[in-house]
Amino acid sequence: MKIVMLGAPGAGKGTQAKKIADKWQIPHISTGDIFRANIKQGTELGKKAKAFIDKGMLVPDELTIELIIDRLHQADCTNGYVLDGYPRTIPQAESLTEVLDKLDEAIDYAVNVDVPDENIVNRMSGRRACLNCGATYHIKYAPPVNEGICDRCQSELVLRDDDKPETVLKRLEVYHEQTQPLIDYYEKLGVLRSVDGTKDLEDVFSAIVDILGA
Ligand code: ADP
Ligand code: AMP
Repeated sequence: MKIVMLGAPGAGKGTQAKKIADKWQIPHISTGDIFRANIKQGTELGKKAKAFIDKGMLVPDELTIELIIDRLHQADCTNGYVLDGYPRTIPQAESLTEVLDKLDEAIDYAVNVDVPDENIVNRMSGRRACLNCGATYHIKYAPPVNEGICDRCQSELVLRDDDKPETVLKRLEVYHEQTQPLIDYYEKLGVLRSVDGTKDLEDVFSAIVDILGA
């Protein structure tokens, strides 16, 4: 099964994508995680991406598209995947459709996690991320067992620089301009399904399981 997660930054795409990946045993592919790993390792890509990420802007398509296409050709993707944070622009979506077309394949579902802007700043300021393994928590809604420490790998949790309120507002603006049009794009392809992302995270997951078929 090939799934694309849509929604504003902080809507809960990553949280739900991880649960989908666990249940359906498919890889969770997050472009944000790939960029953060590159930043941590100090690669050329990481250096270029950081300049955009820190400002709340999107990393240019020419750096992003090739990266994801390479990832989708890896062996673990043969039974499908859940894409989290990709595509984020119409050219990214078109290139994904094109690559899949050539293989006679298509995205099965684009799951839109719908959360109004009012809820987003609050969600993001409470998000804590593990930059070692990619796990995410929320200080109130999904706290780790030991405050500030990742349950999975025991690394220290951080408030991402781009989750600070001033950057979040910029990211929301960029979302509405460049990413929201993907809702129409996938609606036209007949694969769009929306869930109410303001509900408790287990309720959101149940709604997604109903859509994908248990
Ligand atoms: P995204 O991947 O869309 O940017 P995340 O999955 O990282 O968003 O979620 C953003 C923050 O909100 C995280 O701290 C996460 O723990 C929390 N969160 C996710 N889903 C819910 C929910 N349904 N209710 C409350 N908090 C949530
Ligand atoms: P995320 O972890 O999905 O919130 O992504 C963090 C940041 O990485 C975004 O604000 C963008 O700057 C960048 N990014 C992630 N995915 C993409 C993408 N598909 N296209 C462009 N930039 C991206």
